[in-house]
Amino acid sequence: MKYTIDKVLSHGFVMGSIKIDEISKHSDTKTSKEKEMNKFLSSIEKSVLELDNMNDDSYIMIQKLMIQDPLLKENGIKYINNGKTAREAINLVMSDIINSLEASSSDYLKERTNDILDVTKRLINNLGNKKKKTIDKPFILYTDNLLPSYVINNRDNLIGVIAKSGGYTSHSAILCRSFDIPYVIATIDCKNSDTACIDTRKNKIAINPDVDDMERYIEEINASKKFIKKAVNHKGFLFLANISLTSEIKKVLEYDFDGIGLYRTELIFMNSNRPLSFDEQYKIYSNVSLALGDRSVCFRTFDVGDDKKLKYLKTKSKGLNNYLENKDIFETQIKALLKSNIFGNVKIMFPMIETIEEFMELKNWTIKIAKENNYKIPPIGMMLETKKALENIKDFRSADFISLGTNDLCSELYHIDRMNRLNDFNEYLDDLLDKIKVVIDFCNKNNILLSVCGELASVKEVAVKFYKLGIRNLSVSPSMIQMLNSSYNEFISGN
Ligand code: PEP
Ligand code: MG
Repeated sequence: MKYTIDKVLSHGFVMGSIKIDEISKHSDTKTSKEKEMNKFLSSIEKSVLELDNMNDDSYIMIQKLMIQDPLLKENGIKYINNGKTAREAINLVMSDIINSLEASSSDYLKERTNDILDVTKRLINNLGNKKKKTIDKPFILYTDNLLPSYVINNRDNLIGVIAKSGGYTSHSAILCRSFDIPYVIATIDCKNSDTACIDTRKNKIAINPDVDDMERYIEEINASKKFIKKAVNHKGFLFLANISLTSEIKKVLEYDFDGIGLYRTELIFMNSNRPLSFDEQYKIYSNVSLALGDRSVCFRTFDVGDDKKLKYLKTKSKGLNNYLENKDIFETQIKALLKSNIFGNVKIMFPMIETIEEFMELKNWTIKIAKENNYKIPPIGMMLETKKALENIKDFRSADFISLGTNDLCSELYHIDRMNRLNDFNEYLDDLLDKIKVVIDFCNKNNILLSVCGELASVKEVAVKFYKLGIRNLSVSPSMIQMLNSSYNEFISGN
């Protein structure tokens, strides 16, 4: 039986045995109020300890912040004092949070629901002394909703995920992309131990394929795995990586990327109900700088606003206003980034710039912070991702580098929904390339390093056109590089 994939959240091509996720049924025998209170408080402690022993990345930190939120404890205690069990109290506190997120009009915030469910599951697991079950054979999960902890706990054997719902910016999707686990949205008919083949290149899922198809799949899957390490071979393009999690650095180094072209730092800020401290941020950024050594890492200051609202940010819009309205948060981030520049390999980039005045205000602000604290001034550049900046490109001679954000740019220029942004690029590509040519000429004339970091950089036929125009720096998600690099080389060596 073949099914069409509704949405691809993480690319890949795998075949394996299906496991249907069944929601575990916990028994909930009520004990005394005092015992329920102890169970609740010790589950908070155990959960924090558990997270302390896990990888140090933003996703773990965010879960820790959620669990340590004083409101969680306070409201849980209130529910238990009103006669609820520890388990009921956890479910009630968490569903209050979920309800408030679901009332939001932002898809981004709605997608955070899975993180809350994940924290709920962790707290409930830690009410008793039961060990978590993991599966020791490779499998493809079929589930309603994928939780981040499930990916982490099963990452050695989880080879693919088919879910009935889920979003591109959810942590589960980010983790799957980081671990190269294909993750797709589709509704299929299957049972445990059926064989499934997920092929995101063809947008298809096959359940129990016949023998001929199976042999073909095995051959194609093996062929697609040819490049495991050193996938980047540095001819033609300088390949940089787009990442948002510290755990992705391993892959950046294994694939031998030339550096990080876009570190989306807003992921570090997600879900926390308070801004991250200087020390917390410094720890993350300096680890990245240290790991990259002599390769550069370009941190984009937190790009939150519009649909990506955070409770503690006073944000009306993206770009400069976002930082002016959240001065302390911006300054703390800049200070942490400047101090992290251990090897002189850090670059700082501002998103959603429209005018040179905006860029200069942020650049001068950063230089002032560097001077006040005796930090070296790193290269300071901008995303070129607004129509206004594109129209005013000749003003931006003082940018040390420019990175073309085709996602936002195309959505503004051609009114494209970002969720489907790659589908119809042929309709506007010629016009876009004409506009980009002007940018390339400007950057060449003024000796400004230009790269492309929007999703179009990972579309082979588009990248080839970028190359013909003169672009040599592409920043792409590490999970795309195996698929892309061989084709680029074929093109480049033929020219
Ligand atoms: C872009 O807009 O092209 C981009 C790379 O930034 P983001 O996708 O994070 O908005
Ligand atoms: Mg953008």
